[in-house]
Amino acid sequence: MAGGDNHMKTTKYIFVTGGVVSSLGKGLTAASLGTLLENRGLKVCLQKFDPYLNVDPGTMNPYQHGEVYVLDDGAETDLDLGHYERFTGTKLTRKNNLTSGQVYARVLDKERRGDYLGKTVQVIPHVTDEIKARMVELADLAKPDVLITEIGGTTGDIEGLPFLEAIREFALEVGYNNAIFIHVTYVPFIRAAGELKTKPTQQSVAKLREIGITPHILVCRTEKPLGKELREKISLFCNVPFEGVIEEKDVDHSIYEVPLMLQRERMDDLVCRFLRLETPPANMGHWQDIIRKLVAPQHRVRIGVVGKYIGLPDAYKSVYEAITHGGIANDCGIEFERIEAENIQKEGAEKLLANLGGILVPGGFGDRGVEGKILAARYARERGVPYLGLCLGMQVATIEFARHVLGLEGAHSTEFDKQSPHPVIALLEEQREVTQLGGTMRLGSQEVQLKTDSRGARLYGAFTVNERHRHRYEFNNRYRAQFEAAGFIFSGTSPDGELVELIELRDHPFFMACQYHPEFQSKPDKPHPLFRGFIAAAHQYAHQREIGLT
Ligand code: GLN
Repeated sequence: MAGGDNHMKTTKYIFVTGGVVSSLGKGLTAASLGTLLENRGLKVCLQKFDPYLNVDPGTMNPYQHGEVYVLDDGAETDLDLGHYERFTGTKLTRKNNLTSGQVYARVLDKERRGDYLGKTVQVIPHVTDEIKARMVELADLAKPDVLITEIGGTTGDIEGLPFLEAIREFALEVGYNNAIFIHVTYVPFIRAAGELKTKPTQQSVAKLREIGITPHILVCRTEKPLGKELREKISLFCNVPFEGVIEEKDVDHSIYEVPLMLQRERMDDLVCRFLRLETPPANMGHWQDIIRKLVAPQHRVRIGVVGKYIGLPDAYKSVYEAITHGGIANDCGIEFERIEAENIQKEGAEKLLANLGGILVPGGFGDRGVEGKILAARYARERGVPYLGLCLGMQVATIEFARHVLGLEGAHSTEFDKQSPHPVIALLEEQREVTQLGGTMRLGSQEVQLKTDSRGARLYGAFTVNERHRHRYEFNNRYRAQFEAAGFIFSGTSPDGELVELIELRDHPFFMACQYHPEFQSKPDKPHPLFRGFIAAAHQYAHQREIGLT
């Protein structure tokens, strides 16, 4: 099937699978390899296959799945796509994340339409063909030199089997030297024995070989160095060349160290050798500079993040990353203070928010912790603490301002109080008094117009920008004049002026909040302007008040 087309000959395919346990950082490994290949001058594209049956992670609880990462085209995707965009220059679309749910939906759709002409519809070949078709489609669309495909889940999972079968077939079809398999595995250190153990890796590779896949490279996640002997053992027992045994130790400081670690292991050299790609070595000078700022920053600041999924760092993945990037831009290390919003309701803002350089309230849905977030916005406004609100973080800042500056008692968002006498945040349909409530999500990249002479325009250095959205509720325009008169500046709106996108406070060192999600477009080598400005303000604030770090 795959042999004839032109792109099939020019695009090289790398498949990344994972073994032994989940959470090994397969996505990071794939993204880091992407960085190295891109810096060798290759055009790289990355995609993720997720074996679960949900059509997309949009409806999944963040506790189950971590953050939902939103793309320009509005696709709600796996957070690994965030790594791909942060580590490489690839622009991703909904085509770059395929779930079993999507595959089966397509197959069943075709079956109902009669496309299979009366045949029995089966996992092999119908489901596997659908998976293979996605790779061809993407290669056609993006025309990359290298397409890296990460298979979610762990080898041995029943639901992952069709994907593994599909990549096995695909590799055969594109032929030797055009596709390789990289298996990310775990080499645990057993404390009682004082040793690293290779057996789980051997078994996981055996499982792959059982279904016809022999990895070319093994990326061994480990907390201790592997050593020559262990590498030899893994090489011999797993049928992988010695130099294909790559050590990926836990990083000391930052995930951004991973590409440099893999480069030291010569992983990209080997990949290029296997795939017959002739390129100069990767120039990672700019990346080393980023790491220097992360490892030994000139300054430090403590930033409080007030959310409702604080126990799970993955739930706000892109937010933490973007704050870190803001730190890189200011040569400023970040100490995170993760604050459960509900605890502010219980223990008070003073107790939990004193000694912070800046306060950030990220996005969210549902009313748990909302009053705590409102208290956080109030504290930041009244005390002059730098504040950055993202999506719900803008909405709570609006509610707070309405209640305590404008004196609009009971002001709220209709998401949390349908009967509010002052619905300062509401669905558009409610604002227009339409009875049929749709409440569909506003998703993806849209244009934002910035006001001349606003802090927003100064930070961006532009008057028109594009930002990604994921929300239903909007600022209620009925209240605009009242807010404006009190010093609440609407510094960004949709091009028609109807939708409020960015706000800032007049009499405050740095109080900014946006309806969109700037965190999805920040990169370590291209920190987002709002985060850059926020960390600069936070550092200055902490410095003036001599807020020390622990
Ligand atoms: N729940 C709010 C809305 O739907 C905010 C969404 C968000 O923060 N992503 O408008």
